Amino acid sequence: MEFYAAPIARLIEEFEKLPGIGHKTAQRLAFHVLNSSQENVENLANALIDARMKVKHCSTCHNISDSDLCPVCSNDRRHVNIICVVEDPKDVIAMERTREYKGTYHVLHGAISPMDGIGPNDIKIKELLDRIKDGKVDEVILATNPNVEGEATAMYISKLLKPLGIKTTRIAHGIPVGGNLEYTDEVTLSKALEGRREI
Ligand SMILES: [Zn+2]
Repeated sequence: MEFYAAPIARLIEEFEKLPGIGHKTAQRLAFHVLNSSQENVENLANALIDARMKVKHCSTCHNISDSDLCPVCSNDRRHVNIICVVEDPKDVIAMERTREYKGTYHVLHGAISPMDGIGPNDIKIKELLDRIKDGKVDEVILATNPNVEGEATAMYISKLLKPLGIKTTRIAHGIPVGGNLEYTDEVTLSKALEGRREI
């Protein structure tokens, strides 16, 4: 880093904080910025700031949204009595791509992972229970990822829901174990949703 002028070193450092970006790629991106027009760089910087400032969590399902309610929660044709619980906003996009699911979502923003120090209170489980308390929910579909953390999270939530008498289902496997909803194709995901089983 000492070979670089301080502003370049700082830029490389910031790029390196991004997921999947190693030192080499960070360098390449930094030099790309240096060779870009002032206008392009300003557009990039403004897009970053804008996205961060304007995108917030839907007050109901905690999906990312630029308004108080996300498009799913504000759509009165969606069935509010079914909630599909996912780990990440990207999983909502994956589920929506199937065009099969007509219920609503709840985005946990993570999964229980003792190894990473993430407990039930660190993800949006309490918010899910608050939503269910109004008595309008008939089924909760647990669509957390089929890996250790996702399964642990599904088990944890199902134990909380059992005493409330709410039908709790888990999407069927077919999604490879250790896999990720985000990278599952629409057909597999539709089948997994169709074949969900009560737990
Ligand atoms: Zn929402």
